[in-house]
Amino acid sequence: RGDDDPGVSRPRFIRVNTLKMDVHTAIKELGKRYPVQKDDMVPDLLILPPGSDLHDHPLVADGSIFLQGKASSMVAVALDPKPGWEVLDACSAPGNKTVHLASLMNGKGRVIACELNESRVKRLQHTIKLSGASNVLHGDFLKLSPKDPSLSKVRAILLDPSCSGSGTAAVRLDHLLPSHVEGTTSGDDLERLNKLAAFQRKALAHAFSFPAVERIVYSTCSIHQIENEDVVQSLLPLAESHGFQLDTPFPQWQRRGLPVFAGANHLLRTDPVEDKEGFFIALFKKKQNTTNPFP
Ligand code: SAM
Repeated sequence: RGDDDPGVSRPRFIRVNTLKMDVHTAIKELGKRYPVQKDDMVPDLLILPPGSDLHDHPLVADGSIFLQGKASSMVAVALDPKPGWEVLDACSAPGNKTVHLASLMNGKGRVIACELNESRVKRLQHTIKLSGASNVLHGDFLKLSPKDPSLSKVRAILLDPSCSGSGTAAVRLDHLLPSHVEGTTSGDDLERLNKLAAFQRKALAHAFSFPAVERIVYSTCSIHQIENEDVVQSLLPLAESHGFQLDTPFPQWQRRGLPVFAGANHLLRTDPVEDKEGFFIALFKKKQNTTNPFP
């Protein structure tokens, strides 16, 4: 997903795992070798000069810092989970956002990480162990029952499903022509995208059905409207019927969703060239007047 691509021309983003180290100490430690700046939007994100290679840095090895891009780090912050909450990370391996959620919750509460792919579960478990976060559930998110008592207190869901990865695959950047963005892809591509979108729609629909959920973030690292605005738009009536509406993650961010439906300005996009990674974030929030059984 390009999160750990050393990159020579782009700044190096470092997310501090605040479960293990505070931001101030991280700046001091990394500052011994590099000029370090704080990101202005993601509180635990640091910016180092292009070409800074931290792959062998001891703070990476012990899970105090993660090499994670800015757009990817915006996803868990958009969900804004509170300490003490129960949060479900529906499609979680390799676990970058899982451990970010745990860190934003100060390690208080429960992050349940669901992952279908067995070999990726191992990687997820490694990330989680490294970070000090908890709880891995191996299985299919679509098969988790909203009626399962052990999930009845889940207040937020992060849904970062399998996607085309078109926003972060640097080698594919020359294919990211406007025609692709507008959806006139070749037959093969289109078939693949439609399959992915069918799963993405199913997964998002499923997320709405959990009884205590107040916030849902749907994110992809795709640039394709089919996987992004179209998925969200097709589920707006269902979202509404469950008491959810679109909200605006990072209102100060200029680049919003493609204007294909009224309300697409709530959505957030990052550009694969200008922002170095193409991500998409949609935030659904339960309307205020809907009863919350866990105030
Ligand atoms: N959120 C992760 C991170 O930031 O490290 C990346 C998630 S990746 C885009 C999508 C993941 O969803 C893959 O690991 C894939 O195996 C998993 N997945 C796909 N279908 C799933 C399902 N039905 N239930 C649970 N996980 C699923």
